[in-house]
Amino acid sequence: MTGQDATMKTKTHAKIEIPTHSHSALARRIDAAAVVLRENVARFPSAAFATSFGAEDMVLLDLIDRLELAVDAFTLDTGRLHDETYALMDAARRRYRTRVRVLFPEREAVERFVAAHGVNGFRDNVAQRKQCCAIRKLEPLARALDGKQLWITGLRREQSPTRADVGILVHDATHGLMKLSPLADWSAADVREYVEAFAVPVNALHARGFPSIGCAPCTRAIAPGEDERAGRWWWEQPLQRECGLHIAPNGWRVRASKAPPAR
Ligand code: SF4
Repeated sequence: MTGQDATMKTKTHAKIEIPTHSHSALARRIDAAAVVLRENVARFPSAAFATSFGAEDMVLLDLIDRLELAVDAFTLDTGRLHDETYALMDAARRRYRTRVRVLFPEREAVERFVAAHGVNGFRDNVAQRKQCCAIRKLEPLARALDGKQLWITGLRREQSPTRADVGILVHDATHGLMKLSPLADWSAADVREYVEAFAVPVNALHARGFPSIGCAPCTRAIAPGEDERAGRWWWEQPLQRECGLHIAPNGWRVRASKAPPAR
């Protein structure tokens, strides 16, 4: 079942059954996330959910599936993901009715990059690293978001300095749509609690020190005290460590707008 399935209808009154042993603070966060998801998917019917199969995205997939929201769920297979991420894609396919489309980069662009810079050319300098991300992530993302009104993400403010200003609902000028981050104010502990309460499948790498997981050659485990995204492109300066998926066209981070534009 996908958001493109015209027969699927959003379940507007579905109630998330909170396990009785869960903390009441988690119950309030779940209710709040469910409300913003329901309201905005109803308000922006052409909605997409981009998942990288990180723990936050698994929480969102679980919520979207329980609420039976009509969204186009997709992931970007860069061709350089961990085996553990592919195993989780399979697990999610078995567990959820919500289908996640897998998008690949343009073959010719990947081949040109590899011919010019080698298979690991993204390590040479920041410009080449960003070029690799542009080919393997940004172009497929733009394709997936083309024509969409709403982009649902698992961004959280606590994840890194580059995400400290993430708003729950902001206007994304790059893609010309609204971006919804229902877990923006969730902590890592909130995510863990949800995963445990609902037995959500997660990437096996999380238990091995990888709180944030991207491409295999560009992700390492973090040390105690490091921010959650310190293991992404660790050879670069902290404020350069984004792939560009969540950066505004002028290079500044996308901040919360005062109010969404009128539709
Ligand atoms: S994370 Fe690394 S391998 Fe993946 S697209 Fe970006 S530079 Fe390329």
